[in-house]
Amino acid sequence: MPFSAPKGTYDVRPPDSARWLEVRGALLAPARLAGYALIDTPIFEDTALFARGVGESTDVVSKEMFTFTDKGGRSLTLRPEGTAGVVRAVVEHGLHHGQLPVKVWYAGPMFRHERPQAGRFRQFQQVGIEALGVDDPALDAEVVALAVEAFRELGLQRTELLLTTLGDRVCRPVYTEQLREFLAGLPLDADTRRRAEVNPLRVLDDKRPEVQALVADAPALVEHLCEECRVHYDLVRAHLTDLGISWHEAPRLVRGLDYYMRTTFELQHPLLGAQSAVGGGGRYDGLSEAIGGPPLPGIGWALGVERTLLALDAEGVHGEPPARCAVFAVPLSEDARRFTVPLIDELRRAGIPTDMAYGGRGLKGAMKAADRSGAALAVVIGAEELATRVVQLKDLSTGEQQAVSADDVVAQVRKRLP
Ligand code: AMP
Repeated sequence: MPFSAPKGTYDVRPPDSARWLEVRGALLAPARLAGYALIDTPIFEDTALFARGVGESTDVVSKEMFTFTDKGGRSLTLRPEGTAGVVRAVVEHGLHHGQLPVKVWYAGPMFRHERPQAGRFRQFQQVGIEALGVDDPALDAEVVALAVEAFRELGLQRTELLLTTLGDRVCRPVYTEQLREFLAGLPLDADTRRRAEVNPLRVLDDKRPEVQALVADAPALVEHLCEECRVHYDLVRAHLTDLGISWHEAPRLVRGLDYYMRTTFELQHPLLGAQSAVGGGGRYDGLSEAIGGPPLPGIGWALGVERTLLALDAEGVHGEPPARCAVFAVPLSEDARRFTVPLIDELRRAGIPTDMAYGGRGLKGAMKAADRSGAALAVVIGAEELATRVVQLKDLSTGEQQAVSADDVVAQVRKRLP
């Protein structure tokens, strides 16, 4: 085989694709019940959209983008995340002039040139929601709750919510300056020192134990919030409490995208090892302005489909493998095949998932195919019964068989399906 899927990518393929699709849908189900509508934006955008929106100093923008020049000389980038494109689309089409908040969901592939490992791909599938145009702690709570609910509905019990606030344009810069000064007094290596200058918050998130020990006494942002941010965060937590949602305060949670402010959260799964984040999100009130739009508050999240599947495996939550069809037709001769093609068409039109044995297999091979299809019933069409328009309905779990009229097949099948 001369080709294989590019490094860090994978093929969604049967039979597992059914579960993939189901999980992707289930993650969005709570949001759809809450009034979020589909938005689907291009998988590539102007490179500058991500540079300005996500932030030049982030790993995502500085190291991980798939960027190319098109034939018109434009620099384009395969989207590394969904929010910047959604905000671009909302502003471009003036959706924020309608009813607020604008509530949208999306699902699709994202691209990051990361080192592939378990749960980390270069093309991966995210589902996400965004709620724009309103700055209301109750909306923050709704968005957080919809992520929590998404995992709970799937049957995951061990997903943990980490929650914090990153302050706003008033209090964060003051805090950042204090943190920078604090970090300047530490014996950090050259690389970390540079990071402390560019983005001191990131240093707090450094996983190395020696760095963790050094920053243990660093000032915490939650203790330096301005009044507005404190009130906002208190209300978000009060709403979450009312919703019966529990969380861990994570004052050092730093996410890989620069646009977050105020409410920020991550969902982690303890059984996933190094890549433990199954989802994350937060408020991004300055993002629209950063990409040249009007002031437009917003909050959203993105959840990873691959890691959700890994978490489901780790917890031993397995969905029922859905049957490919309910009825499987087995024609036993060429004439029977002529008869079968419109017969399965009739069953399908009646909304009954139906397939048939193609390829002129003998009875044994065809019955094996019927078993493999997961169907509950086989319709066996023998040559000799064609004249009388009689077919055999066989229950594939009990083996029971009964002759029924082909003209009555839909009703007879319906009677026997669970
Ligand atoms: P982020 O956009 O970085 O906040 O990521 C949101 C979620 O997307 C994460 O919690 C992961 O579940 C998933 N994710 C991010 N990067 C990757 C990747 N390279 N491979 C697979 N899933 C990813």
